[in-house]
Amino acid sequence: MAKDLDLFIAGEWTQGTGEGHYEVHSPVTGEHIYNVPKASQADIDRAVAAARQATEEMRHWTAFERAEMCLRIYDLWQERVEEVARIMTLEQGKPFHAEAVDDVAESGDYFQIAAEDVKRLSGEVIPTTERTRRMFTVHRPVGVWAAITPWNFPVMIPMEYVGPGLATGNALIVKPPEFTCWALLEMARVFEEAGVPPGAISIIPGAGEIGEKLVTHPGVDAIGFTGSSATGARIVSQMGLKRSIMEMSGNGPTIVTADADVQKAAEAAVYGAYYNAGQVCVATERLIVLDEVHDEFVEAAMKAAEEVRLGDPFDETTNMGPLNNEATAQKMDRHMADAVERGAEVLMGGRRASGFPTDLYYEFTILDRVPEESMVSREESFGPVLPILTARDDEDAVGVANRTRLGLQAAVFTNDLTKAFYYADRIRSGTVIVNDSTDTWETFQPFGGAAGTDTGWGRQRIHEFTDLQTIVFSLRDEL
Ligand code: ADP
Repeated sequence: MAKDLDLFIAGEWTQGTGEGHYEVHSPVTGEHIYNVPKASQADIDRAVAAARQATEEMRHWTAFERAEMCLRIYDLWQERVEEVARIMTLEQGKPFHAEAVDDVAESGDYFQIAAEDVKRLSGEVIPTTERTRRMFTVHRPVGVWAAITPWNFPVMIPMEYVGPGLATGNALIVKPPEFTCWALLEMARVFEEAGVPPGAISIIPGAGEIGEKLVTHPGVDAIGFTGSSATGARIVSQMGLKRSIMEMSGNGPTIVTADADVQKAAEAAVYGAYYNAGQVCVATERLIVLDEVHDEFVEAAMKAAEEVRLGDPFDETTNMGPLNNEATAQKMDRHMADAVERGAEVLMGGRRASGFPTDLYYEFTILDRVPEESMVSREESFGPVLPILTARDDEDAVGVANRTRLGLQAAVFTNDLTKAFYYADRIRSGTVIVNDSTDTWETFQPFGGAAGTDTGWGRQRIHEFTDLQTIVFSLRDEL
């Protein structure tokens, strides 16, 4: 029996006043699991008005009061992890034991970090040219944010906005995709219990049309967006003068140099390709292997791939579940067909798996001798595929790595310190990881990237939610 979910608007659970609803099916079982109402323009206006009121109230709170609220959220969060992770597996497809539990638990960390950071967010006293003038800066909340988030991390990515946003006194309207909103809505009960002011957080799931209404809404001050570059470009063209944080696609190159620990590189590369079934912006999307170690790497990767266990994501032994949606599966189909047509060799997988309740379970795939111009190399595949390309030497490898506009996270495997710096200095990427998978991150890590991706976590992040205000005093002359 499908569940009827409510929207969370201005502190209330409501069916809203829109017409119709979205019907959502599980990628795991194919069952119709829930319905979620389509919000009307009036529902959106109500969320925006309540958000304005909440941020006007919270801007007068002290940093310590906001930090306390975030710590209450953090504490309450931990009690719900398993329940919410179970929902997330059902709606998103990621393995419950291997991924979802950690994923939901880690999402709560953003509140702890934000609580710590906001207490140390200080302004500056600025030197002046006039003896009678005093000048200093303070951080003010930006105001009302629309956070438009994707389906691959349905709770974590929204919290990257909500944690630092709330800590600095902003109000946020989160718009998750309609087909991965249940776990997030369930977790929102924590905000109520923690005493977050009504309207400081609203959650309005929906497709692009709801996102567009928020992006163009005159009452919204700023946009947080995580998603594809195509949608990001569209949002930027529509948002006018609003502030924004945009985090978009990656095409994570991993370079295996001639002196690398090839075994370790192969294990990390396979992990980076199958974690969350490859549906991660920092997934290992391209393997660039130096000619000298190519054969050794291929052998090691084939062996490492024996670890991938595609199956029911609720099963304890499964470490890879289905893809989340048909559009992603079709993109994989297209990338496979194109790679084969251009002469790549399919070493394993390359197709949807049979014998599962839905058509979204994709076999773990390794492609060898992938031509650089193929789609799987040029674009973000967002599926469980390890495409192996080759390079003649280090300079050639850097060239291949940089021939993309997507530069979020790259990895290089080498045991030579000088060579590690050679690559770090030349690869155009927000992060360069030495001797580990591109699929590696810490909640505190500054994160973002070259070419159209722009975000920071931890200390960097909190600044993005504030406007710097300068206060200037003119004193009496007798001083
Ligand atoms: P994907 O292709 O991986 O689904 P998208 O970039 O399309 O990624 O989606 C990321 C988020 O952007 C989702 O919440 C989606 O509903 C939203 N979105 C899609 N189109 C638009 C749009 N035109 N305006 C605002 N938000 C949009």
